[in-house]
Amino acid sequence: MSLLLFVALAACLACGKSKTPHGRPNLLLVSVDCLRADHLSCYGYARETSPAIDQLAREGVRFEHAFSASGWTVPSHLSMLTGLPMSVHGIDDERLWMRYDEEGHQLPVPMRGTFVSEVLHEAGYATAGFFTAGWLGTKYGFGPGFDTWERLGYRFYSHPVVGPLYEKIKATGDVAQLKQLRETYPELFDAHRPSTPETVDRAIQWVEQHERADAGQPFFLFMHLFDAHEPYAPPPPFDQLFQAAPGAKDIEVKKAAYDGEIRGVDAGLARLFARLETLGLAENTLIVLTGDHGEEFEEHGFGSHRIHLFCENIHVPLVMRWPAGLPAGRAIGGNAGHIDIAATLCAAAGVKMKGPVLGTDLLPIARGEVENSARLYLSSLSLFLNSTVPQRYLTLIRGDEMRVLNTQGTAPWAGVRFDLAQNPSGSGPGIPLDLGGPEGERLQRELAELRKLFLAARAALPARGEAAQSLSPSDLEEIKATGYAGAEATTANARASERLFLDGGVWPDKP
Ligand SMILES: [Zn+2]
Repeated sequence: MSLLLFVALAACLACGKSKTPHGRPNLLLVSVDCLRADHLSCYGYARETSPAIDQLAREGVRFEHAFSASGWTVPSHLSMLTGLPMSVHGIDDERLWMRYDEEGHQLPVPMRGTFVSEVLHEAGYATAGFFTAGWLGTKYGFGPGFDTWERLGYRFYSHPVVGPLYEKIKATGDVAQLKQLRETYPELFDAHRPSTPETVDRAIQWVEQHERADAGQPFFLFMHLFDAHEPYAPPPPFDQLFQAAPGAKDIEVKKAAYDGEIRGVDAGLARLFARLETLGLAENTLIVLTGDHGEEFEEHGFGSHRIHLFCENIHVPLVMRWPAGLPAGRAIGGNAGHIDIAATLCAAAGVKMKGPVLGTDLLPIARGEVENSARLYLSSLSLFLNSTVPQRYLTLIRGDEMRVLNTQGTAPWAGVRFDLAQNPSGSGPGIPLDLGGPEGERLQRELAELRKLFLAARAALPARGEAAQSLSPSDLEEIKATGYAGAEATTANARASERLFLDGGVWPDKP
């Protein structure tokens, strides 16, 4: 039973010692926002969007079918960094930071898990993380275990000085002062400014500094690159690289621009990888590259992300290179996912993750020492559509079978099935699932086992206190500016006991 495998995986960490011929490896985790696997050349895409990532894959290992733990940034990164699914780390939506009791006190954010950075830091690693999107800020609980957790590529609304100043001037309605603010900080008001060059520069600077200070201490570096996110506006020369055919539909124009953005991010990565090489660090650095989720181009009727959990939303690249510890040029069949990343990083460092980890150390699979088995992978998403009761999406992937399910409140799950062996891109509407019969019984059995596993994991993990700040007006401004519907403070949905995402989370069952 594959659910038991989940448990076995956690136990497997104890035996996760890795070959580290030159001492403990450095670890570099790169997450590229909105990066779908099938838009990279090394995953078979016709356009040459990813020469640096392709080279990484040639010199390392590429997992053909890797799935993101969610369809948007915050829960996906939490799963990547804690090795826990949404039902265990507890975070499905930023509305969790906007719940108040009758007296106006903020309700606790039900976040759990140990960050891989905490474990590595305790094991003697120097740790740093560089990111652009506010979603990865300490406000949302990110940053524990990192010596440096730094945001780059600010916009005016998120800038620590200009943001509050902007709000103050806006409240007075002084147009001349607003104009002056725009002229003083033009780069902060340019919505199309790429942030990858700045983030890569900072990462290179940090590595150089680290190497000068102490050549003996290994490092764990995390980077989140945001430029493939909307608006798709690649900077020159990447804006000219890919063009939709004359007269092509808007969606094709968007795809070409998105591809240009990917190529721009790839160029930034090329600089970072080259610097690791010249510093003599490439040989014993494990690089893990993934996307935090995919991006939809109307395959199932919508654009962007955080709407669905079909293949285009959750099939992400997963490429690992470690010349001293992994073979080169292998493509691994079977499945993998975000959930495996923390366990894999820990195994490479020769340490054990703290508390329950529900992912798999992928190193023995990458080396071909063990077969990739048909584990169960989950992707989860809550979506509030003009209701205080979220639509809950749950995609279950086991081997070639993908079931895309949804429900709201206490309604029974409904959904469709895809056979990825026949239909690798999961295109089309899928085959309707008859959940009134044996299929439904099977699902209930699986959910019951997951529930047991997830509740036990949550019971073993104390709630994290640091994810307790409420969101400010400028945070809400930023959420809207990034293209998401603005959340509103909620008071009527306090629950005395926490439920798993599977069962509705903290949200009410009825509006
Ligand atoms: Zn994202």
